[in-house]
Amino acid sequence: MDPTVYYFDYAILAGMTSGPRSRRELRLRGLVQGVGCRPFVYRLARACGVSGEVRNDGQGAVIEAEGSPAELAHFQARLLAEFPPPGQIAELVVRELPVQGDAEFLIAASADRGRELAWVLPDLATCPACCAEVADPADRRAGYAFTNCTHCGPRFSIITAVPYDRPRTTMAGFPLCAACAAEYHDPGDRRFHAQPVACPVCGPQLRLLSGTGEPLPGAPLATAAELLRSDAVLAVKGLGGYHLACRARSSAAVATLRERKLREARPLAVMVADLAAARAVATVSPAAATLLASPAAPIVLLPQGAAYDLAPEVAPGLRRVGLLLPYTPLHHLLLAAVGEPLVLTSGNLSDEPMAYADDEALARLGPLVEAVLTHDRRIARRCDDSVAVAWSGGLLPLRRSRGYAPEPVRLSQRRPATVLAVGAHQKNTFCLLHDGEAFLSPHVGDLESEPALASFEAGIADYEQLFGLRPAVLAHDLHPDYLATRYAVQRAAAAGLPTIAVQHHHAHVAACLADHDRADAVLGVTFDGTGLGPDGSIWGGEVLLADCRGYRRLAHLRPFVLPGGEAAVRQGWRIALALAQQVGLPLPEAWWPDAARAAFVRQMIARQVQCPATSSAGRLFDAFSALLGCRPTSRYEGEAAVALEGQADPAEAGRLPFGLLPGEVRQIDWEPALRAAVEQRLAGVAAPVLAMRFHRGLAQTTADLCRQLADATGVATVALSGGCFQNLLLLELLASQLQSKGLEVLVHRRVPPNDGGLSLGQAVVAAALGNH
Ligand code: ZN
Ligand code: ZN
Ligand code: FE
Repeated sequence: MDPTVYYFDYAILAGMTSGPRSRRELRLRGLVQGVGCRPFVYRLARACGVSGEVRNDGQGAVIEAEGSPAELAHFQARLLAEFPPPGQIAELVVRELPVQGDAEFLIAASADRGRELAWVLPDLATCPACCAEVADPADRRAGYAFTNCTHCGPRFSIITAVPYDRPRTTMAGFPLCAACAAEYHDPGDRRFHAQPVACPVCGPQLRLLSGTGEPLPGAPLATAAELLRSDAVLAVKGLGGYHLACRARSSAAVATLRERKLREARPLAVMVADLAAARAVATVSPAAATLLASPAAPIVLLPQGAAYDLAPEVAPGLRRVGLLLPYTPLHHLLLAAVGEPLVLTSGNLSDEPMAYADDEALARLGPLVEAVLTHDRRIARRCDDSVAVAWSGGLLPLRRSRGYAPEPVRLSQRRPATVLAVGAHQKNTFCLLHDGEAFLSPHVGDLESEPALASFEAGIADYEQLFGLRPAVLAHDLHPDYLATRYAVQRAAAAGLPTIAVQHHHAHVAACLADHDRADAVLGVTFDGTGLGPDGSIWGGEVLLADCRGYRRLAHLRPFVLPGGEAAVRQGWRIALALAQQVGLPLPEAWWPDAARAAFVRQMIARQVQCPATSSAGRLFDAFSALLGCRPTSRYEGEAAVALEGQADPAEAGRLPFGLLPGEVRQIDWEPALRAAVEQRLAGVAAPVLAMRFHRGLAQTTADLCRQLADATGVATVALSGGCFQNLLLLELLASQLQSKGLEVLVHRRVPPNDGGLSLGQAVVAAALGNH
């Protein structure tokens, strides 16, 4: 987005300013704090012959510039054109001021603007210049784990208040030594005004503790590396929280980590030393390489390579692996000292939030590990690693957290009332939307446990304080029993605020619209796990005609039942049985794990006991995964669906025949596909071939349906959202089919298609509906 420039004085525009000199105030908003804005402005002003000053404030940065009108115009043009990345000017407000006759340009102290809205940068991965210093034995920061500069280092995870200045970070307790102070105050230095600047003399120090908190003898880093090499599990303090780490090549170590963390099967992220090490275990496309090495340094899901040599326990049964590169000097040093890839997974038990406070981390993680590699720089707030994947259309975020949050999603629709959208039950994030800026929280997680709910509530309080925003309206899911919904309803009742309930899949489509800064009507294909429909049934395979204000359900998957409700999510074979029974198709007993249990489930279906109806696409994937012989059960949500995608044979060109049922609301009919699949499996067609035919068939029929609906409605844009679009095979097939039919396709690129993006959708719907 190009910056918006506002002129408060038309005289400037018209060039009618009187006299040989003028003074102007230029207010910058955007990502301007912590990116070297002030030093850049300082150097630019001097180069342009402009006097005055620059300072940070609660809203960004303020420049007062004095010079001839030509000098000022030149200065402003270069300011916009040359602003250093990753910084970004979103808005520039220009006012005329009285001339003061300054002789010099200076960097002034920050003005404390209290609770005004500010922009806080995400944490940035260590830059190449800092890496070189850490690796250089002659440098004074050789081997120093907390090296950073204006271009890199912690931001969001150390800021306690705005404006962004050292006293308002967790570096406040580390007074600069003479050498660091000299760098900090030298406009020509890379560390000029770098707030977290530190060195071995004055900065934070590493410590290695036992699981019970006693200091361990020896150099912390070398001893930690030695322990890891001998297959120990360690807790390691990172930027936004603690990780659990162990050797990724060791089956024994990874199995131990899984056992202690109570994480049975979900894949674990692996940190590799550099891109070459990533290429040794995975196929890394140019887009994926860019993503891995970006300042956000997310976990990137990649196809396992021919020379993949990590323990099978890292990603059981999967053909992909989640890799990330070191993003702090500590990570670089640790990887170099161990000399091989490390599992680096969030430090928690099962689905609880990641530990980030030192006492809590020691109490919760100490019993799980041989040692804790920690330090004395406090983490101001939790921020999990982000997850992304590169597809042919670009970047697809799967979890938007460290490196991205709290950078706002900017929208051109600007409304002054502040909306708090509380998000979904799983993969929760919340969102504060104000004046065209959507501040999404980092990943909160599944709101299943008491600690997760506490983290959600604390996170909201933190965001409101940090950005100086108080909501005027609360948006939540239609589901009354989501803990997030209950929070919103109770808070709104206590404060006398209005609430807006947003249907789950409408929120998904709105999130995709907001992701593209659009507000027009689209055909929203939401293939998802589950979300409550206004009819009380479970939706999840929907085609909605929707904009940000409302929606109409045009089509959905033909409904089926979930025998046992939640139990069916973990046991997709139950759903396969239900599909077959619904259309009177007998299935061979030998296909099911347990004949007695299958008989019991058949009874449930026949009597319609505990059999909620659904149109969920996610559950259809689970059912077909079982039916085609890929995976009958899931140890975590989506495992069976991931197996169906992972096993699909890319060379197969056939497809299973899905149907389209007529009616006021159209239905995508799975019955012909089911019959064909059973027939073909009985005839000996292999599971990978059938898995590919399933994907191709569903994509083809969905695209046909969208073309028909486009003709009927005159709306020729399709937005793809919902958790099923984490499936790249489905995404690629459907997007290309839709495009070949002349339809415009919107795919997520700033927020995840899964429930992690839902709060943005809720927020824009509430903003569009409200008369606030
Ligand atoms: Zn740096
Ligand atoms: Zn120092
Ligand atoms: Fe969803």
